[in-house]
Amino acid sequence: MKNPLVPSWLSENKDLEALDAAIWPATAQRNDRGELEIGGVSAPELVRQYGSPLYVVDQSDFESRLAEVRDAFESAAAKAGTSVKLYYASKALLTTDVARWVVSAGYAIDVSTGGELAVALAGGTEGERLGLHGNNKSLVEIGRAVSADVSAIVIDSEIEIERIASIAGAQDKIQPVRLRVNSGVHASTHEYLATAREDQKFGIALDDVPQMVEKIRSHSHLRFLGLHSHIGSQIFAVEGFVAAAEKLLEVHARLLAGGEVPELNLGGGFGIRYTAADEPMPIAEFAREIVSAVSKKCAALSIAVPKLAFEPGRIIAGPAGVTLYSVGTTKDVVIAESGEGASRRYVSVDGGMSDNIRPALYGAEYSAAIASRTTNSSGVLSRVVGKHCESGDIVVRHEMLPEDLAVNDLLAVPATGAYCYSLSSNYNFLPRPALVAVKDGKARALVRAESEQDLLERDLGYQPGGGD
Ligand SMILES: *Cc1c(COP(=O)(O)O)cnc(C)c1O
Repeated sequence: MKNPLVPSWLSENKDLEALDAAIWPATAQRNDRGELEIGGVSAPELVRQYGSPLYVVDQSDFESRLAEVRDAFESAAAKAGTSVKLYYASKALLTTDVARWVVSAGYAIDVSTGGELAVALAGGTEGERLGLHGNNKSLVEIGRAVSADVSAIVIDSEIEIERIASIAGAQDKIQPVRLRVNSGVHASTHEYLATAREDQKFGIALDDVPQMVEKIRSHSHLRFLGLHSHIGSQIFAVEGFVAAAEKLLEVHARLLAGGEVPELNLGGGFGIRYTAADEPMPIAEFAREIVSAVSKKCAALSIAVPKLAFEPGRIIAGPAGVTLYSVGTTKDVVIAESGEGASRRYVSVDGGMSDNIRPALYGAEYSAAIASRTTNSSGVLSRVVGKHCESGDIVVRHEMLPEDLAVNDLLAVPATGAYCYSLSSNYNFLPRPALVAVKDGKARALVRAESEQDLLERDLGYQPGGGD
């Protein structure tokens, strides 16, 4: 009997051992015991060594995505007779090692807080390879960025013009800056992921741009690089980027009358595949179509094509990551109100919204597969949930998982490389998992797991060995 709760994009006869190459990291495969293996290391071995839950990054997958995205934009830019600078959006995933991978691939790094700046600098990133963003950068953060000689600070409000100019003046430096523009373009994505509708906090309205740029140009300690736009995240179609680029270029062209405008930064937001329902545009097509639209618009405006900049985050880190969990309990729930045959198995794992808040925050969808063994059993509609005290604590909303899934089996959730570790919390006092890189048959911890002791030690009322 058909279960009416199975969504249309999910096949009830799905191969439960298959690993869709468009969702899983490049090196993911099953070994001869049927265990999931990433970077040549099996999931059970990783959990034995580093614990569960566990964030795993396929380092060679991450590195090949860096190369693929770079090549896509560089060849598109070359065709338009210009160059491109790529800033990796570090809020997606950042450790000192990740910073080294990114810089080795020729990227710069976007940071938006003093903390991200500190990690990037500790990873050996030079100022020339850094950009600072954010709608509320503190004086201390701006001061540290200026003294690190970051290649660009993105101004988000009028107040920041004076702020950055006076800090640069005090350090006797000329700080390159961009101006973030709210293009008003609606990227078709989740409301909290769209960052260029009128009614949100980022950027300067298009109409106010000329006056702001005039103000920037009046400061001898600032150098105006150009306009910046970031329309949102997890975007599958190119139209929003093209519309934003065209709007920005019209203003860009007018600004040329008052001085040089060497660059145009069109941000990030390129979508990835989380489930079989997702069909993002390939990055090479994104790059080709955006750059060609820029080139056409510049021709129409009779201006030179500026140097371009982009800020990919999720598309590099997301598909490279997998989270491993252990199954703790399972429970079958019959949902009579949804019709005959409507039932769902709740599979509880040892993590949840503390290691992946995206389903709760954005209604994000994920997929999952058994990681610890082979299975011959048929699939049952399952919902993978965490161990937190919230009914919204969902890891994977809809998945077919083996009927014989049992306590202590391992589950793997792919496409968790971006915005999972970086958004993790200690809700319910769960220590955060380790983050491990795998490559060529070897595993290496990038970040160790937290312990309960780590959490207790921040509690100033804590008395080791005592309690009263
Ligand atoms: C988050 C962010 C990005 C990266 O977005 P992705 O969806 O991860 O590519 C780029 N630029 C800015 C300004 C951002 O805030």
